[in-house]
Amino acid sequence: MRIVLLGAPGAGKGTVAKLLTEHDGSVQISTGDILRAAVKDGTELGVQAKEYMDRGDLVPDSLIMKMMEERLQADDCERGFILDGFPRTIPQAEELKKLLERLGIALDVVVNLEVPKDVILDRLTTRRTCSNPDCQAIYNIKSNPPTEDGRCKICGSPVIQRDDETEEAIMNRLETYNEKTAPLISYYEKEGLLKNILSLKSQETVEKIKAALHT
Ligand code: AMP
Repeated sequence: MRIVLLGAPGAGKGTVAKLLTEHDGSVQISTGDILRAAVKDGTELGVQAKEYMDRGDLVPDSLIMKMMEERLQADDCERGFILDGFPRTIPQAEELKKLLERLGIALDVVVNLEVPKDVILDRLTTRRTCSNPDCQAIYNIKSNPPTEDGRCKICGSPVIQRDDETEEAIMNRLETYNEKTAPLISYYEKEGLLKNILSLKSQETVEKIKAALHT
C-alpha cells in the first residue's frame, strides 16, 4: 500500500502506521523519527533541524524534500510505504506529487485521522517516547506506561518526554498544524485521494483503513 497519514500532532499517526506495516510489509516512513535520529547522531541535517523541532516549528521544506527524495527511493519502499508526518505543507505535497510522478508510482489513499481536540491534548501531555532512536516506541503514562523504572518494554532504553512535548511547544505545534498542515485536507480532497476517518482506537482505525483500500 502507498498511503499518506494526515492528522494533528497526537492523532496517533505513528501508532496506526506501525500497525499497518504488519499488514503487507509496507514500511513506515516517519519524518519526525528520521529527524530525531539525525539530531541524536549529530549529522548536518540534525544540527540544522534541531532548533526548529525544539520550538515546535516545521523544519524548512528544502531540507525535508532532500531527505525524502532519498528515502522514497530506498529498496525497502518497493513493497509500499506509509508516510507518517509528511507532507506537512502544500509545497511539500506538490513536490511529493512531482517526485512520485518521476518515480512512476501513485498514492492509493490519503487518510485524515480525525481526533477531538481534548483527546489530542490529553494524549500529547501524557505521551512518552523511547529514547533509543532505532526504537522510538510510544508510551502513555496513563494507558500504556513503560516499565516501573521508566524503561522501554521493547529495548530497555530509558523512556523520556520529548523536548517538543513541553506545554509551550505543544501549543506551538498545534498552531503550526492548523496553519500549515490542515490545508492539505482540502488539497487531497481536490486530488480525489482523501478519506476522513474518525480515529479513537488505533486497531479499529487500521481496520477502517484496510477497508478503504479495498473500496
Ligand atoms: P512528529 O514526530 O511527526 O510530530 O515531528 C516532530 C517534529 O519534526 C515536528 O514538530 C517538526 O519540527 C519536524 N518535522 C517532522 N516532519 C516534518 C515535515 N514533513 N516538515 C517539516 N518539519 C517536520
